[in-house]
Amino acid sequence: MTIFRQTRPKKIFMGKLKHGEDLLKELTSICQLHDIQLGSVSAIGAVQKARIGYYDQTSRKYEYIEIDEPMEITSLIGNISLKENSPFAHAHITLSDKQGRAYGGHLAEGCIVFACEFIIQIFEGEPFERGFDDQTGLPLWDI
Ligand code: ZN
Repeated sequence: MTIFRQTRPKKIFMGKLKHGEDLLKELTSICQLHDIQLGSVSAIGAVQKARIGYYDQTSRKYEYIEIDEPMEITSLIGNISLKENSPFAHAHITLSDKQGRAYGGHLAEGCIVFACEFIIQIFEGEPFERGFDDQTGLPLWDI
């Protein structure tokens, strides 16, 4: 069954990340610093190198792909909720190389910012808390 709640935008942060920072760590730290418990995140820009995850549904473990070359962030989209009572950003990213080939996956630590423009939308309402989901083995929203 599809489960959802209605919400509405409350505030928007728009900015750029610092060159050389870890993309996921920086987004997470903005959320933690400003106590953003419910929202969405999007970004474009470029990375110096990348590390993205793929969730193996059989082994129920993330496998990681490391790409050690500069690439464009053609799209980063994600959401912000709570995991273990702390603001948590879950994002997926699509990157493109010099030939325009695309790579994509779960945004993991290890994507190093070359330049990155982000928008974080903060939503009103009760935060979504993540809890262990038996069916998938993932920390999904417990709503
Ligand atoms: Zn994911």
